[in-house]
Order: sequence, then structure tokens, then C-alpha cells
Amino acid sequence: MAEVWKFRLLVLAALSLKSSPGPASTCFGTPSKGRIEGAVPLPSDGPNFKAYSYMGVVLRRNYVHEKVRDVVVDAYARLEKHVADQMFVYGETGWPKGGDFSPHKTHQNGLSVDFMVPVRTQQGKAVEFPASVTNKFGYGLEFDAKGRWEDLEIDFNAMALHLQALDEAAQKSGIRIRHVIFEPSYQGMLRAAPAWKKLSFPLYPHKVWIKHDEHYHVEFQIACKS
Ligand SMILES: [Zn+2]
Repeated sequence: MAEVWKFRLLVLAALSLKSSPGPASTCFGTPSKGRIEGAVPLPSDGPNFKAYSYMGVVLRRNYVHEKVRDVVVDAYARLEKHVADQMFVYGETGWPKGGDFSPHKTHQNGLSVDFMVPVRTQQGKAVEFPASVTNKFGYGLEFDAKGRWEDLEIDFNAMALHLQALDEAAQKSGIRIRHVIFEPSYQGMLRAAPAWKKLSFPLYPHKVWIKHDEHYHVEFQIACKS
């Protein structure tokens, strides 16, 4: 009889281990040469946001440092008060263990998150960013000089509010945002949006290896081990 109880206790212990939170996230190195332990996935969706691709989630291309996840989720909750009608879409983040994340040059240690631009029709109707297999999950869309693609245009006001929400959420959680990479020729339109407010982090002013017109890359700053 005692053996049966011992067995039951072992099973219970195993189950509680399974349901307890994993080890805390620890990042190593840099976003362009690094890795992570204890990374967590971003939720695949929430009331006002979703991942760019179900396939991307299944392949586990949406892992981040746990503090980054908390800030991203908190920012979306804050955003609900300001943008009622938009379904925001996030892009790629990184692998559960980090490391090379082709075709991205960074995204290696759980601190990088891509966000697809919020879009509206030219009549002002909020539309979910049209990411699909046919346009490289959104990364293949090319917006014109005014931030338009077919009938859609970038909602710079909603993007300004999202960046503010990320800024507030990061400050509350005690982590920083290093910078945001976004197409330099669009940054004037973003700053001209009615909701724009100065942020505690810079918009990277230079062009980078690929055009960041359909997404903005947010680089978080957390002390990582070398
Ligand atoms: Zn990126």
C-alpha cells in the first residue's frame, strides 16, 4: 500500500513540476551574436493583437525573453484604451534557444521583436495587416513613398500610440528599449502624426540592410551574460 502512495506522490510531484513556470529567461551575447535560455513564446493572439502567421507560431519563431513578452503584452493592453478598432499584428521574434535566425541579421538573444505596421483603408477603416504565404508573411509587401499599398495606408497615428504604449510598459517593468528600426523616409510622417509624443528611445536614423517599410523592429535592452 505504501508503495502505491509513494507512486501517487511521485506522479503528483512530476505533474506540479510540469505546470510550474519554467526557468527565468537568461540572454547571452548580443542580438546579432547570441542565444537565450528559458525563452517564452509571445501569445499567438489576444483581444487586439495576433501573430503574423499560424505557421510561424507552430514553428516556434515567436520566442522572446520573458520580460520582453510581459512588456509586449502590457503594451497591447494599454493600447486598447487608445485604439479601439485595430487588430495589431506582430512579426518574427526568435527561436526558443536563440541563435541564427535567418533571414534576420539580429533576433538572436530574445530581445528583438518585429511589429507589422497597422494599416487602414484610404477611407479610414482599420484593417488587419494582410500577412500571408503569398507575400512572405507580410515581409514582402512594398509600400510606396507615402506609405501606401493598394487601397491600404500605414496608420502612423496608431503606430505612434503603439510605440508610446511600449515605452510606458518598458519603463514600468524596468527594462529599456535600445532603438526602433523603421524606414527613415517614413519617420517624418510618424513624427507628424497627431498622437506622436517624444519617446525615451531613438528611432534608428539610417537605412539598414533591408527596407523596414512594412514592419518596425524594436530592440529591447536587458543586461545579458557574455
Ligand atoms: Zn527585426
